[in-house]
Amino acid sequence: MAKRDYYEVLGISKSASADEIKKAYRKLAIKYHPDKNPDDTSAEEKFKEAAEAYEVLSNPEKKQRYDQFGHQGLGDAGGYSGGGMNMEDIFSQFGDIFGGGGGFGSFFGGGGGGSTRRTKKGTNLRVKLKLNLQEIANGVEKKIKVKRHVVAAGVTFKNCSACQGSGQIKKVVNTMLGQMVSASTCGVCGGNGQIVDKKPAEADARGLIIKEEVISINIPGGVADGMQLSMSGKGNETPGGIPGDLLIVIEELEENTFQREGNNVIYDLYISFIDAALGASVEVPTIDGKVKIKIESGTQSGKMLRLKGKGIKDINGYSRGDQLIMVNVWTPTQLSREEKETLEQLRNSENFKPDPGKSDKTFFDKMKEFF
Ligand SMILES: [Zn+2]
Repeated sequence: MAKRDYYEVLGISKSASADEIKKAYRKLAIKYHPDKNPDDTSAEEKFKEAAEAYEVLSNPEKKQRYDQFGHQGLGDAGGYSGGGMNMEDIFSQFGDIFGGGGGFGSFFGGGGGGSTRRTKKGTNLRVKLKLNLQEIANGVEKKIKVKRHVVAAGVTFKNCSACQGSGQIKKVVNTMLGQMVSASTCGVCGGNGQIVDKKPAEADARGLIIKEEVISINIPGGVADGMQLSMSGKGNETPGGIPGDLLIVIEELEENTFQREGNNVIYDLYISFIDAALGASVEVPTIDGKVKIKIESGTQSGKMLRLKGKGIKDINGYSRGDQLIMVNVWTPTQLSREEKETLEQLRNSENFKPDPGKSDKTFFDKMKEFF
């Protein structure tokens, strides 16, 4: 397959500044990141292609050669001929492009690590975790079953003879510009510098076995649907490197009783118009169990009541949201003859005629007060 133009890969013009090149690459790297596209080989290819383009265009010397001579100028025989760059190379070389607290730091473990460090890292594992509103409100300890690659007991390693343990193969390439040295990841050890010497029968060629583990995790209160928590080092192990991370994606279970609004929960309360008129004590559910509340006499439909601190914990602090109770006055839909007669007697009573001017605030004014 013919190589695509590096500018085309990054979607930029030849006159793009160093900053524009970096931005274009960052955008693509996030879009095609393997953590966001698990088991998608075309995304992985695009991710590698973008990294390769960036590797050249971000280096003034290589960029100049490429601008002048195209792919030929980079010495097609070396470096990039065999299947492009290795994923770990991309992470260790360009991981810092995500640094600076952009939220993607966790993808690369440690976040903002030096670009010169070439520690191999195992792949990340991703699990979904379903939580109900009560668990979300208070935080919860969960046990998660994961299957991860771990280095089998009894595995021994020896230096890779192909690269003498460096993990890199250096090649001297003759180009029209003279001799150039290019370095590429060793294909024998995959850049580890180490290969398996002895291993138990059940381990694969890399010395790994799949192990099922139960991992305990403390979920803080206040997490939300789609939020991702990262447990450093609980992903797949890789020989001679550091383990990847376990990424836990939060899924909120469907909830019928309450509606979540940020850290507040909203509850729809239905009362009879007799309770609304005379006042009453009613029981309402909260996240922490049932409580009794007082309904004042003369309560209108649409009134909001607040139970302070009965909402969801703030993920960033110690405060807790509230439970908002929206009062709905229930109109009976079926009436017996006796009931009808009783109500008929009240129909023309002066006090039963609606007089909205008397009630203090409109529903929308109250909503504004609460949010
Ligand atoms: Zn090697």
